[in-house]
This record gives sequence, structure tokens and C-alpha cells, in this order.
Amino acid sequence: MNVLITGGAGYIGSHIALSLLQQNHQVIVLDNLCNSSPIALTRVEALSGKKITFHQGDIRRRADLNQVFNQQPIDAVIHMAGLKSVNESLQKPVKYYQNNIAGTLMLLEIMKQHQVNKLIFSSSATVYGVPEKIPLCENCDTGNTTNPYGASKYMVEKIMGEVVDAQPELAITALRYFNPAGAHPSGQIGEHPEGIPNNLLPYLFQVANGQRGNLPVFGDDYETPDGTGVRDYIHVMDLAEGHIQALNHLKPGYRHYNLGTGQGYSVLEIVQMFEQVSGKHVPVDMRARRPGDVAICLSDPGQAKKELGWQATRGLEAMLRDAWRWHTQNPQGYMGSETL
Ligand code: NAD
Ligand code: UDP
Repeated sequence: MNVLITGGAGYIGSHIALSLLQQNHQVIVLDNLCNSSPIALTRVEALSGKKITFHQGDIRRRADLNQVFNQQPIDAVIHMAGLKSVNESLQKPVKYYQNNIAGTLMLLEIMKQHQVNKLIFSSSATVYGVPEKIPLCENCDTGNTTNPYGASKYMVEKIMGEVVDAQPELAITALRYFNPAGAHPSGQIGEHPEGIPNNLLPYLFQVANGQRGNLPVFGDDYETPDGTGVRDYIHVMDLAEGHIQALNHLKPGYRHYNLGTGQGYSVLEIVQMFEQVSGKHVPVDMRARRPGDVAICLSDPGQAKKELGWQATRGLEAMLRDAWRWHTQNPQGYMGSETL
């Protein structure tokens, strides 16, 4: 298949590109590089021994999308392009709705024009907002979101359901990721956030390699076994394989699936496992709860197993080992590495 990945130069998109190439699909990437480097794609080409067709452009621009769809036939789209910072979305909601919603509307319009009917969408566990029960299953309530980022994912899912009602030939699957973590085991591709990381694992790695003093732990008084927040971390390679399975099972209609492991780990369990894996000590600094955080967020991944034949196979140790390898081999991310 010729598969277009919007946002394919990003953290998760680059791992999906590699998995697709290894399954002998042709990969086309459209990315405006607002949060990524084209070096990720050259590394994917080197790892796979195959070429990617790269277009630098913006999903909000009709001309950029038309150029991609005119240049080669597209059989399916994996739509990853989007902005993903919860904090930034609270400060710049218009920017988030513009990018994540208006960009998706433009993509849907151009897909219709070019009669491309297959779409996989990067959604998020944030669509559930404050969990009504644990573990979260696909029929739990959605929409009770607490920030514009989460709201944008919820709204896009809703729009996609309505568009499928109007265009029954469309096959759309939204994948609700829990907490993506890890990197390709080669250490060649991974995630490198700009500035001070908001997320636990990138912050922890920067403490471990001496870039930051100690790890703030936001809250030790939650109703969890050790009082710290519990999350469902999923290896990015398991996520990538989930996309391939979703693509293989696409059929007309709109569907959504959780992509998680169903296994939760607390902040302190993560720190402890990381210290074992890396041999590094991570000093922690207990702080107050972070506003907006919930005690536990955990998936029921049963529906993806039943209907897509997919389940995560990599555990926390592999996530931490692989991410740490990427981090130590690329302390500046793709910056300062080979030019194109
Ligand atoms: P990322 O920032 O590494 O990748 C997103 C890519 O999209 C980047 O390469 C960026 O340059 C590109 N992009 C953004 N806006 C664009 C636009 N208007 N036109 C073209 N390209 C554009 O993020 P990621 O972690 O790989 O996330 C990919 C998708 O998965 C996002 O939609 C994100 O919301 C979703 N998601 C991520 C997480 C997570 O924790 N990483 C969790 C749930 C869902
Ligand atoms: N967390 C923490 N210190 C940090 C970042 C995160 O203690 O510097 C905690 C956070 O409170 C939550 C868990 O780690 O319980 C995962 O947070 P992250 O931001 O990585 O993901 P989220 O689930 O919030 O999207």
C-alpha cells in the first residue's frame, strides 16, 4: 500500500514509518517540521534500507495537501500531524484548535476530493477526561476533557464519526494512545522534547544524565499503593504495530480503540525500575499534586486484542532500556547529528 503519514517525522510517526517500510509498504510523509527533524526520516531509511517520499508542508494548506495527493496515488492515511502539549494548549487554545481541528478538516476534504477512503487517526486517552472508572474501556464516557488539547482530540473523533455517517465509503479508526514511551531498540530514533520536559520520562532522563538536579514528583497522597500517580505506559514500537494491525483491519465505518498495556506503574515504581536498568541514581523531590492530574489512568486493551488481533508485548523494562539507549546516544536529540 502507499501510505501517507501526516506528521511522520515526529516521535511516533517515525516509528510507524519504520514498521510500515519493514512490512513492504511505500511510505509518504507530509510534515511541516514544527516539532521534528528530517534526520529522523534519514535514520528510518538507513534502518530499513528503503526510501521515504518526504514533502515538507502543512496539513492546513490545501496546496500542500493537493501536491502530495497529486504526486502519487495514496491508498491510506495515518494522521499523526498535530500539536500535543497540554500546557501550551491552555495558553494558546486557538493555535491548538487551528492546527488539530482545522488541519484535520482540510485533510478530510482533500481525501474526499482524491477519493481516498482509509484513515487512521492518532487520538488519545485524554478524550476520557477525568476517568469515570478504571480501567477505561472504549464505551466509557468521553468529552469531559480538561484542556484544549484533549478537547481537540475529542472533537476530531466526533467529527470523524459524523463524516463517516455522511460518507459511508469511509473507513476511519481512531486509536486512543495511553502514555507512549520508549524508542526503537537501535537507539537511532526516539523522542527529544524541546526545553523543560513536561512529561515524566524525558524529565527523569535529564536528571539521570545530569542536565537537571532532581525529579519533581507531583503528589504522594493519591489513593494509589505508594501515593504517586499511576499510568499505563506503552512502548512506541507496540504502538507502531498497533497502527499496522488497525490498517490491516480497516473496514467502512468509524471505530475507536484503546492502545495501552492494561498494566499501571506509579511514578516511584518507574524511578526504581529505571535505576535498576541504568545503574543511575535519580534523586526525587516530593511536591504538591500537579493541577489537572488524576490518580490513575489505565486502559482496558481488550477490544483491540479481540478486533484487531493486537496486544502490547513489551514491558516497562524494555521501554526504559530502549529510551535510555536513545537518550544516551543522542543527548541533543537529532540536533548536532549528521546533516542531510
Ligand atoms: P510529535 O510532535 O513528535 O509529532 C507530530 C508531528 O506533526 C511533528 O513532526 C510535527 O512537526 C508535525 N506537525 C504538527 N502540526 C503540523 C501541521 N500543521 N502540518 C504538518 N505537520 C505538522 O508528536 P508525537 O508524540 O509523535 O504525536 C503524534 C500524534 O499522536 C499527535 O497527534 C499527538 O497528539 C498524538 N498523541 C501523542 C501522545 C504522546 O504522548 N506522544 C499521546 C496521545 C496522542
Ligand atoms: N509526573 C511527575 N513529575 C514530572 C512529570 C510527571 O511526578 O516531572 C507524574 C505525573 O503527575 C503523572 C505521571 O508522572 O502522575 C505521568 O505524567 P506525564 O506528564 O508523563 O503524563 P500524563 O499522564 O500526565 O499525560
